[in-house]
Amino acid sequence: MRNPNYDILFEPAKIGPLTAKNRFYQVPHCNGGGYRDPTAAATMRGIKAEGGWGVIFTEQTEMHHTSEITPFIELRLWDDADIPALRRMSEAMKTRGALAGIQLAYSGINGPNLYSKEVPLAPSALPIRTFTNDPVQARALDKTDIKDLRRWFVNAAKRSKLAGFDLICLYGAHGFGIFQHFLSRATNQRTDEYGGSLENRARFVNEVIADMRDAVGDTMALTLRVSLDEHIGKLGFSNSELREFIEMNADLPDLWDLAHGTWEDCSGPSRFKDEAAQETLVTGIRELSAKPVVGVGRFTSPDVMARLVRQGVLDFIGCARPSIADPFLPKKIEEGRIEDIRECIGCNICITGDMTMSISRCTQNPTFMEEWRKGWHPETMNAKGDSSNVLIVGAGPAGLEAARALSVRGYDVALAEAGTTLGGRVAKERLLPGLSAWGRVADYREYQLSQRPNVETYFDSKLSAEEILEFGFEHVAIATGAHWRADGVSRQHVVPMPADPAMPVYTPDDIMAGKLPTGEVVLFDDDHYYMGGVIAELLAKAGCKVTLITPSAYVSDWTRNTLEQGAIHARLIEAGVKIVLNTGIAALAADGVETECVYTGAKGHVPCAAVAMVASRIGDDALYQDLMARQDNWADAGIKSVKVIGDACAPGPIAWATYAGHRYARELDMPDIGDALPFRREVTELA
Ligand code: ADP
Ligand code: SF4
Repeated sequence: MRNPNYDILFEPAKIGPLTAKNRFYQVPHCNGGGYRDPTAAATMRGIKAEGGWGVIFTEQTEMHHTSEITPFIELRLWDDADIPALRRMSEAMKTRGALAGIQLAYSGINGPNLYSKEVPLAPSALPIRTFTNDPVQARALDKTDIKDLRRWFVNAAKRSKLAGFDLICLYGAHGFGIFQHFLSRATNQRTDEYGGSLENRARFVNEVIADMRDAVGDTMALTLRVSLDEHIGKLGFSNSELREFIEMNADLPDLWDLAHGTWEDCSGPSRFKDEAAQETLVTGIRELSAKPVVGVGRFTSPDVMARLVRQGVLDFIGCARPSIADPFLPKKIEEGRIEDIRECIGCNICITGDMTMSISRCTQNPTFMEEWRKGWHPETMNAKGDSSNVLIVGAGPAGLEAARALSVRGYDVALAEAGTTLGGRVAKERLLPGLSAWGRVADYREYQLSQRPNVETYFDSKLSAEEILEFGFEHVAIATGAHWRADGVSRQHVVPMPADPAMPVYTPDDIMAGKLPTGEVVLFDDDHYYMGGVIAELLAKAGCKVTLITPSAYVSDWTRNTLEQGAIHARLIEAGVKIVLNTGIAALAADGVETECVYTGAKGHVPCAAVAMVASRIGDDALYQDLMARQDNWADAGIKSVKVIGDACAPGPIAWATYAGHRYARELDMPDIGDALPFRREVTELA
């Protein structure tokens, strides 16, 4: 049963005219599906209802066509035609007594209007501030525009009610919503009654909330998501100004939803932000008004959650990523199943779905956004098929997830691991600077396997094809992982780069195994995700003089999608790493590297004593190939199938491996679907 210390999290609480059944508040979060995949997104929200959340929000919903953030895929409420899709979502949210919330966004200075081709409108005429630096500027709203915009908000509120929502969140944080743009002197440089003093800058939000209260406030609650701190110097909306604003407008919304002034700050990865990182910015705000407060902080610990409510810092525990990694987080706390919580690792892979306009993934929860597309439930598996046992070779993320999910399906599982620990790459990478929380990928699964009677784990078991043929398992999954290449093959070099054998080369595997270079080191990053930056940081901390050379225009380029590229670059500067961008390596010489400008081909020479090579990886699929070569012996051995999964199949991020493991478990013994599409999708109805 539940620990009485957590009872406080299950006390109902009022929000305006409504009562939330508990303190678990799923704040708005993107999912890469939005208006393009409405049923996939709605079903995902419905799973949160099942998981026990008291309040469940949509992602950002563009409330008028004059402000949209294409190419990013969110929801839209432009006219009545959008209501049915949104109603599907609100209905899914309300199935278990949760309150359904919609976040209305007018993106203002953050909306380039690439799709609608409308001229963007913002408090002041400035360039659009998107991630993509679109060459578009906004026109300053004149008085008529402001009247129009107020009416558009009222229209959107009425439509939200028709779509079945209980709460409306007005977006004014993360740099994305117009209420923040009005409040901040950086984006509001008006000289009329909407600019200048804080009272003037707060006029617009006061007007909109008053209008909306008249329209829907009798039945709906209105919340304001407002920036905790923009952290952009003197002109920014600071934490002290926020406090002043709340004191001056204590009764404005029905609930204060506090989040950072930039998304990067708010959704910082675990490499840079701890759990409850915003606590000091939030503490004390609740005393400034009688209205309840929700805050976020990648909360996965019920002790931290209960403490924040007990100490009166927060009324509601806001979660986005923790609710993605484990939609059943509230239910597990309620049922006293703390050990079963699948804790978010703070990798921000979920955010890359939004940034790349694709259906999101989650490293910890492979079922995220597959609830409808594939019919995958995060807590229950499909029924067992005809076979009874499976051998999984390799206990990395792919093997562990396959073993866990197959055992839940009811198969007898043997998990053979060459080494002496579970986790594969995660067991090593969790020891790298800033990545300790990533170990939760292994920890969660290790505990789950320990609770299951139908899984046997064998360590020190580096299996050969011969041995596997002797064992006689019906199904064999090869999840033997991958290793980093030393020969430089990746994107610049598709064949091994010319190299003088006198130059020592260290791969990330060498370095993770404790084999470190000394002195002057060139790190070549042609991988572009986190590994290059992390290894540079590690080597600099170990006393090496590191020069990071990359053909990209950015350090750890792909981490722009995980919102940490800027923080990585800053950390490397602080660690004393010299950064050379837009530069390839033509060859390794005995005394250094020959460099090459990616634009002009201009050559250079950087002296060094060793090279750290972060290029690409090779799948370790030799065992799989051996078994495939002996297919004729399978029947005698009782083997029905052999599959290669995860990094051994094709190296990728950890989320790709947990997905592969889960998919293997789901599809074992399932009928062959031939050439059919392996997921459902919604095809646009022709006009
Ligand atoms: P993935 O990300 O696909 O799960 P990892 O590299 O993280 O892959 O994990 C692969 C695991 O497989 C490692 O722990 C490794 O020790 C183990 N392994 C590799 N080859 C064998 C083998 N022949 N027999 C048993 N285990 C193996
Ligand atoms: Fe957390 Fe990573 Fe999953 Fe996002 S993808 S919810 S950061 S574990």
